[in-house]
This record gives sequence, C-alpha cells and structure tokens, in this order.
Amino acid sequence: MVNLPRVVIAATRSGDGKTTVATGIMAALRARGLRVSPHKVGPDYIDPSYHAAACGVPGRNLDPWLAGEQRMTPLLLHGAHGADIAVIEGVMGLFDGAAGRGDFASTAHIARLTASPIVLVVGAAGTSASIAATVHGFASWDPRVRLAGVVLNQVSSDRHEAVLREALAASGIPVVGALRREAALHTPSRHLGLIPAGERAASVDAWLPALRDLTSLGLDLDLLMSIARSAPGLTAEPWSPAAESAGETGAPPGTSPRIAVTAGPAFTFGYAEHDELLAAAGAEVVTFDPLTTEQLPEGTDALVVGGGFPEVHAGQLAANTALREEVRSRAAAGMPIVAECAGLLWLGASLDDRTQCGVLPARARMTGTLSLGYREATALRDTPLLAGGTRVRAHEFHRTASEPAHGNTPAWRLADGTQTGWAGPSLLASYLHLHWAGIPHAADRLVQAAIAARPAGEAKRRTSRPRAAAPIPAAPLTVPGRVTLVGAGPGSTDLITLRGWQALHSADVIISDRLADPAFTAQLRPGVLLINAGKAPGEHQLSQAEIDAALVAHARAGHHVVRLKGGDPFILGRGGEEALACAEAGIRCDVVPGLSSATAAPALAGIPLTHRGLSQSFAVVSGHLPPGDPDSPVDWVALARSADTLVLLMAVANRVSIAQQLLDLGRPPETAVACVERAATAQQQVIRCTLRELAQPGGSPDVANPAVIVIGPTVSLLPADG
Ligand code: SAH
Repeated sequence: MVNLPRVVIAATRSGDGKTTVATGIMAALRARGLRVSPHKVGPDYIDPSYHAAACGVPGRNLDPWLAGEQRMTPLLLHGAHGADIAVIEGVMGLFDGAAGRGDFASTAHIARLTASPIVLVVGAAGTSASIAATVHGFASWDPRVRLAGVVLNQVSSDRHEAVLREALAASGIPVVGALRREAALHTPSRHLGLIPAGERAASVDAWLPALRDLTSLGLDLDLLMSIARSAPGLTAEPWSPAAESAGETGAPPGTSPRIAVTAGPAFTFGYAEHDELLAAAGAEVVTFDPLTTEQLPEGTDALVVGGGFPEVHAGQLAANTALREEVRSRAAAGMPIVAECAGLLWLGASLDDRTQCGVLPARARMTGTLSLGYREATALRDTPLLAGGTRVRAHEFHRTASEPAHGNTPAWRLADGTQTGWAGPSLLASYLHLHWAGIPHAADRLVQAAIAARPAGEAKRRTSRPRAAAPIPAAPLTVPGRVTLVGAGPGSTDLITLRGWQALHSADVIISDRLADPAFTAQLRPGVLLINAGKAPGEHQLSQAEIDAALVAHARAGHHVVRLKGGDPFILGRGGEEALACAEAGIRCDVVPGLSSATAAPALAGIPLTHRGLSQSFAVVSGHLPPGDPDSPVDWVALARSADTLVLLMAVANRVSIAQQLLDLGRPPETAVACVERAATAQQQVIRCTLRELAQPGGSPDVANPAVIVIGPTVSLLPADG
C-alpha cells in the first residue's frame, strides 16, 4: 500500500484557466520545498511542458485510451516515485471524455481510476451567485468522484470574490482560493493551443515566479495539501520500464545501441516513458536539436523523431543541410527511424515549400483544419517499432496536411478503412502519436532493430585496403533474412541471368548501384524498398560501410535483400566486402555472377580481347589510381613488359598518366587503343587512337564515363568505323 497525496485539478470546461491554476499550484508547492510530481490527463504534450518547468521533473500523461485503463495508477505511481504530492491536471471539462465513449478518458475517469480527490477550477467571469448551481451540479453528477474543493478563477474584485464565496458556502464544498484576472498570468496561444514552454523558455522564466507568487497568495495551500492527503492509499504496483522490457539486448557490454531522439524548440512533443522504455531495453538515449545540430549524435544507431512544431521552424530546419543530408543517407542505408507527426513532416520532401530531409516523397503544408482525436489503427506491415498486424490506439493533433498520405507500403489501416503513413523494414512515419507504455515490447523491438542495423564493428573499421586473405568467420546462419549479390548489365537491360532476374523479382529490398541500368528496377512488384546506393556524380553516395550496414540490417529484419551491381560483383567492385560483411553477421549470401564490363563492353563493341596467334591473354586492371600512387598495388612494370591486352576500368581520369607510364616502360607507341564509352547503351561509342595519342596531355581523346579502355594488338582487328 502506497500513500501518495494527490489531487486532480479539473475544470467545468476548457478555457477556465486549468493549466494556469495547476501550474501555479505546482510551482507554489515546490516553492514550499515539496517534491511535486506533475501529471496531465489525456494525450496533450503542451501543458506538461509547463508542468515540467514548474516542477523541474518531466510532466507525464495519464491517458487510458493510449496506455490502457489498468496502467493509470501504475503510471501515476511510477512518475510520482519519491514525490511528496502528485498534481494531476485534467482535460477539458471534468466529465468530457473520448467522443462517443461516455466519460472514458475524461478527468473524472482518471480521478476514479486513481481514487483522487478533485479540486474544480471555475471561471468566475460573468457569474456571481449562479456559481453555486454550477458547483452543485459538478459535485453531484457522478457519485463515484469526490469534489473536494473549488478554485475561483478570473475573479474581478474583492466584492466579486465575497459574493462568490457566500454563494458557495451553502454547497459545503470549500473554496481553496481565488485568482484575479491578471494580465501577468496570460499565456500566449497558437494554432494548437498554448505555445510549448520549450519554445518560449525565457518568458516562462519570467511568468512562472509571478504565477507562483499569485497562487501562493490567492490559494490556501494548507487546505490543498489536506485535500491531497485525504486520498486513500493505493495498492497497485508502480509501472516499471524494466518489467516491461524483455531486458536482453544481446549487445556485448559497453556496446549498447545509441538511439537519438529529437528535442529542442521544433520537437517539443514526447512522452517521458518512451525514453525510459528504450533505456530499460538496453539503449543509450541521446537527445539532439535538429535546429542547431549539424550532425546526428556520434554513434547513432536509430532515430526517433517526435512531434512538435516544425511548421514554425521550417526555414531553419531547411537551412540545416548537413543534418538533412545525413538523415537522408542514413535512412537509405537502413538506419531504423520512427517518426510521429512533426517527424513525418521533417522526413518529407518539403514543408510549406521549404526543403526537408527527403526521406519520404511527401510534401506538407499548413492548413486551416485541425485534425484532433483518438484513432484506432492496425499496423499493415513490419516496422522497427511494431510487427505487422499489431493493433494500436493512437491520437492525432495537427493542422498540417502531408501528401501523399502514404506510398506503396502504407503504415496503418485506420478504423474507417483509410490507409495512411509510411512503413518499411527500417521506417515508421505517420501522423499517429502512440504511447509506448500501451504497446508492450515496442521499445524492445526498436532497440533490437537498432542493434541489427548498426554497421558491423569490423565493417566500420575496414578500410579500402582489404585485409590479406582474412578467413571468413563461419558465423552460424541463424538470421532469417538473406542477401543475394546480383550482377546485371553492364549498361544493357538484356544482360542479366535468369537467376539474377528471379532474385530481383523476389526481393523485399533492393540496393542498387550506379552502373546498373535503372530499367532493371523500373518495374518491381509493389512494396519493394528500392535504395539507390550510387547517386549521380556530385550527390551524396552511400559509403561502403553504410551499404554493408544496410544489407545486414534489412536481412536481419527477415527480408530478402538484393544487392544489384553493374557487371560482375566480384570484378573491381566491392562485392567481396559485402559478402564478407554478411558472413560476419551470420547472414546467408548468394552470388549471381553477371557479365563483367571488362569483357562485355569490348565484345559488344566488336573488339576481341584474344585472337589466336595474336594474343592469348589479357589483364583487367583498375585505373582508379595513377601509376606511382603509393596506395596502388598495380604492377605497371610487369604490365608494360608483357604483350597482354590490357583492359582498363575506372581509368578515364588517369588515362594520360597510365599511357605515358606504359610508353616509358617500353610499350610500342603505335599500340592500338579503343575507348568504349557507355558500352551496350544507345549512347555507346568507340573512340580509337594509339597509345602515343592517349598519352598526349592536351590531345588525349575525351572519353565519357563509364568507359572501358582496351590497349593491345587485338584492338587493331576492329574494323574501321564499322
Ligand atoms: N564490376 C563491374 C565493374 C565495376 S568498376 C564489372 O564487372 O563490370 C566500374 C567500371 O566498370 C566503370 O568505371 C567502367 O570502367 C566499367 N563499366 C561498367 N559499366 C560500363 C558500361 N556500361 N560501359 C562502359 N564501361 C562500363
């Protein structure tokens, strides 16, 4: 049995000053040296921000729709652990509940569930003796709740107060105090109600002491405390995030995943229990302010973007290009992201025409319409937070509209059948706000997704230089998903094996490559997540570590991931590193070889690489580093001495210095050269010259990437301008 002094601050209706009175009471009690635990009935995020400012601890919500009736007292006890008193601010009028559900989720409902006495705030403007009838009605309407006191608000004069007190004397309900209509107590409102305290911290700092002092003067705090102490003892067990969590992350000690959570003026909405659940599930929670931070916190493994007012800060969010870019590329690489409302807007392409992260192709704008209310929804597919099929109770609270409402793979089906939100193996983003205390193991699931998606330790440290003959560790293949490395092209959509084609069309996730013709992935079955890992030159490209991490994360989530690569995955591509990353993570990896551009491009251009009697060997060489570069393992001396045909890939930028080096080391200047630009595409072009011409700094032919350069006697067999 726990004795927790507690009181519910209710009102006859919205707008009578409930938040002002409740916050004033909290501040005044705290000024007396009491530890005050602040609570708010319903889903609202804004009033708790004022409570938090007054009490110095997070404001917590009590919402039976979101978190379940049975958890109201446990959540109250959890929040109020160690507190001297809990002050619970109501929502709307005392008996106003969820539309169409009687008084469910009303202030009276919470007062009943938590057996808390009620102090009723009554707006006294424009009334005098009639107030007694109002209070009488509220006191007798529901015998299951106890009205223990009244606070008169917006009283105009001493005389007015005296009349009100006299009228109420007959009701038998004590007047706890009265507050005057004071300009100093006004809190500014905006399109969703009060402005969150976090957006106007400086003015709240000035307002709170005034409110605290007026409340201390106007209210009988001893009477209030004795009402709070009259609350009966509670037998429920406190809610415990640790008890809610499966606990085991499986991450080695000291390597708990880091989950970054948005904060600051644009992202003021969030429930304190979420961070507690994440921590209990083994994560390290780090907050950051997307308005002022140019980078995700170091070591971020997953991202939670809560609600707030990005529409007020859209320009500043747009100006933070570095962070937007990072979020976009990490999202593409499979970092788990859970976003609600403001998060949906920020992840979208634009907000009121200001560029946002572009993770989702949705554009948002302010509208005049308020979307507010409880929702029931079913998750349509697996996401990092929920398994497909999970039913949730949620709420919506916004005046923006984001369009389209969903993509190929909607997140939710609402009770009225509408589909909404964006979902994928590593993403959940929608307007719905959830309370994770009401969804067992959601936080565990997110933490597991964060662990699964983190770049494998080895993959992170791996440099461009592969470790010599590192044995592939034989990790047990316990992971449900798998990866297939598929070679396709080069350039031409008909250069793909049957197996490669089948893999493409059975994939859940495809991570594509710049050299794979976009036509390969133009017509996929609906629902496939397509990640373009090789953007156009100049755009951000995913690093190899990010690609490895995405392969591992999506496979760990149980998906068939196809890594589509241009040409043969194992020839001058980094397919070997990807196969190794899978092996280290215990993920099955199949390889479907493709035709290499090294042989296909010359063949399609009519250039034989070998010819009996002329050349029976050729070498495929990477020209991405110039001869003499200390990082290059290419033996140019040996290549120049042999009479082999040389097939250079990635050599356009260094073609002049390579040709010069070959000449210097003895290759005949008249050796025939063919540069095959954009092989096997409609733009294919063969540029012919000699090795001497290729080596001319100003006169070397212009060659467009991607290209294959063939040097050797067999090139002379190509019919002139055929
Ligand atoms: N694994 C790939 C090669 C990757 S390296 C393969 O086996 O083909 C990338 C290089 O391949 C490019 O820089 C270019 O030199 C060559 N290449 C790929 N596609 C090409 C195309 N369609 N036309 C000409 N060269 C191409």
